[in-house]
Amino acid sequence: MARKVIILGSGCAGSTAAIYTARANLAPLVLEGHEPGGQLTLTTEVENFPGFPDGVMGPELVDLMKRQAERFGAEYRAERVVAVDFSKRPFAIRTEENSFEAEAVVIASGASARMLGLESERRLLGRGVSTCATCDGAFFRNRELIVVGGGDTAVEEALFLTKFASRVTVVHRRDQLRASKILADRAAKNAKIAWLWNTVVTDILDDGKNEVSAVRLRDVVTGREETRKIDGVFVAIGHDPNTKMLQGQVALDPQGYVIVHDGSRTSVEGVFAAGDVHDHVYRQAITAAGAGCRAAIDAERWLDAEEAKKAPR
Ligand code: NAP
Repeated sequence: MARKVIILGSGCAGSTAAIYTARANLAPLVLEGHEPGGQLTLTTEVENFPGFPDGVMGPELVDLMKRQAERFGAEYRAERVVAVDFSKRPFAIRTEENSFEAEAVVIASGASARMLGLESERRLLGRGVSTCATCDGAFFRNRELIVVGGGDTAVEEALFLTKFASRVTVVHRRDQLRASKILADRAAKNAKIAWLWNTVVTDILDDGKNEVSAVRLRDVVTGREETRKIDGVFVAIGHDPNTKMLQGQVALDPQGYVIVHDGSRTSVEGVFAAGDVHDHVYRQAITAAGAGCRAAIDAERWLDAEEAKKAPR
């Protein structure tokens, strides 16, 4: 039998949508995806989520949301969606293990930060390696940081980090920024920002306490290598929305983000989207949670309207 609502993803957006749809008696099924709990599970302390004056650990916050949704009847399954068919109703959703049908779908599959691909980077994520300056910058007061990347995000993150850090070095693999001129000019005028051109990070080192202490750098022109003492590494080389399984099923923008209109509506009636899967501007836990609420309310109202159409007059 078709479910009323299936939610793709279990980060802040997915779990908030689950709380709201569960409290609306829609018994949502949450397909947790390849990164259960979303990007917050990759961070340590979260200090900017309202309601936690002493901060909260990222994994704990998503676990609290999940428990809150389950309390009202949401069902979570640790399954990854591999294909969807939104061409007919009920919508069909296939995971590696099962097939499901749903009258309404909330896409909350998020985006994943692009990583350099170093083993040390994964191991030290949340321990000096970060992909979000807004989230983690305040942990690095008077520290020395590097930001990797040459796009708008890297420059914006570097500028933001100068509020806290004593020095921020932008490490870029080419000799030219991809970032917009206005941001680049602003950063060039900031005395706390230094630049390392034509340089890549080949390893991130820890001091034996499992916290970042240095990086290995290689100049791609001269081949010269050096070790540089550093307190934190912000990887800002872009994000990829998790929308591969949606291609051809719902309208995506050229970067692959779901296009929404009128709140959380997508190009397919009955399919809604929430969180980083459509939002490449704010990318915050609280904005994703807000978007999850919005999608849940839109889905509930849409289901009610569909039900009313079927009722005899
Ligand atoms: P982006 O524009 O794709 O830039 C990614 C940067 O990371 C590039 O400089 C790229 O180098 C570098 N990079 C990629 N893979 C790398 C690797 N494996 N190792 C080292 N460096 C690597 O991504 P973004 O900066 O996140 O921006 C995404 C979109 O959002 C853009 O359209 C951007 O304009 C927009 N945005 C706008 C603002 C704003 O207007 N305030 C703020 C943030 C983002 P190359 O240059 O050599 O390719």
